[in-house]
Amino acid sequence: TNAVNDEEAAAKAAAATLDEGAPTIFDKIIAKEIPSSIVYEDEKVLAFRDISPQAPVHVVIIPKIRDGLTELGKAEARHGEILGQLLYAAKIVAEKEGVVDGFRVVINSGPTACQSVYHLHLHVLGGRQMKWPPG
Ligand code: C5P
Repeated sequence: TNAVNDEEAAAKAAAATLDEGAPTIFDKIIAKEIPSSIVYEDEKVLAFRDISPQAPVHVVIIPKIRDGLTELGKAEARHGEILGQLLYAAKIVAEKEGVVDGFRVVINSGPTACQSVYHLHLHVLGGRQMKWPPG
């Protein structure tokens, strides 16, 4: 579909201009320079509603400090703790959103996976029947 093609094009454009030191839109969300609908926040992570929801519940969870984690494919051993915190935050978010009995966590890593923002993030999706395989 066109929506899928647009996503692929946006992801490729994002990757083509990727500068690992460059701030992303998520820095502005963390700094609250642009508004977001925050679902959960602690010292290390921020969870907010996706502006383009793909399910009745669609929350993005990010580390407040990127620390080189532009994408999961760049993770190193030192990132283990924050990666665990992000995954645990997904469960907290699922609970808060009332979908803990059935939800999906997605991480798109790199252009082939249609990653469009190069600040590692988890998608928490729920509130409808999910399909497998994913697109
Ligand atoms: O995995 P991917 O990099 O494509 O995910 C980025 C997500 O961030 C998208 O689902 C997009 O809708 C969301 N986004 C957002 N608010 C922004 C910019 C992007 O929720 N200001």
